[in-house]
Amino acid sequence: MQTDDVLNWVCQYCGEENDIWVDLTVKGDQDFIEDCEVCCRPNRILIKHNKEDEEYVFVESRITDE
Ligand SMILES: [Zn+2]
Repeated sequence: MQTDDVLNWVCQYCGEENDIWVDLTVKGDQDFIEDCEVCCRPNRILIKHNKEDEEYVFVESRITDE
């Protein structure tokens, strides 16, 4: 059984693509902060869990500054 997978997300500050390892053993949506590897700014990552096929579907990254 696969326990993790790589998803891509785009930094909302510099536009660069980043890879992230997602823990597939977590059964539910994930919401956390990840720093961009290029500009080091924190992006809020929102990942949705598809309950039907038990796969994670990347949703979006967001700017963390209010
Ligand atoms: Zn960046």
